[in-house]
Amino acid sequence: MNPGIIDAVVPAGEPWIGTVRRGQSFRIVDLEGNQAVDTLFYNALDTAEHYSAQNTIQAQQRIYLTRGTLLLSNRGRPMLEIEEDTCGRHDTLGGACSAESNTVRYALEKRHMHSCRDSFLSALARHDAGLTKRDLPSNINFFMNVPVTPEGGLRFADGISAAGRYVQLRALLDTLVLISNCPQLNNPCNAYNPTPIRVMTWESA
Ligand SMILES: [Zn+2]
Repeated sequence: MNPGIIDAVVPAGEPWIGTVRRGQSFRIVDLEGNQAVDTLFYNALDTAEHYSAQNTIQAQQRIYLTRGTLLLSNRGRPMLEIEEDTCGRHDTLGGACSAESNTVRYALEKRHMHSCRDSFLSALARHDAGLTKRDLPSNINFFMNVPVTPEGGLRFADGISAAGRYVQLRALLDTLVLISNCPQLNNPCNAYNPTPIRVMTWESA
């Protein structure tokens, strides 16, 4: 395998961190279906620049992410473009689950359960890039279905993804990718059954 080429299976409930070089394509495969993949992107050369849900939504004037979406940074620069998408819709409003949200949404006894926020922090601590919880902006939930009602309500709904569906992004900058393969068991984002994903890169044509 070429150095710098990624091909890894991320087990159910685990985090993953890696660098995708400018010009490479990065694919996330929902191996078994209906798996939420909480994801953040940073400029690998200046991690103070990171994905911005607000700028991305504002620029495309749509709340869902799909093929053609440019993912913008907090500085308004395009970081990645979604170039293929066999799922069709991804969320960037629902945020990441945390010990606190597990407690508020479900029950005090859920506090100890694994969460995406803890997975993000665990991966950042091991990666040693100097990033901390202050560096966690609002994230993307690939393959997660969070429909917005006509009245403006948010719902965590049954997934619309299925086994083998994937989303593929082309990196427009050298990009640090931080993933929590969501361990959530209390809402339908993972169909109550977290499953593995595959992450892959290759050079774009
Ligand atoms: Zn989660």
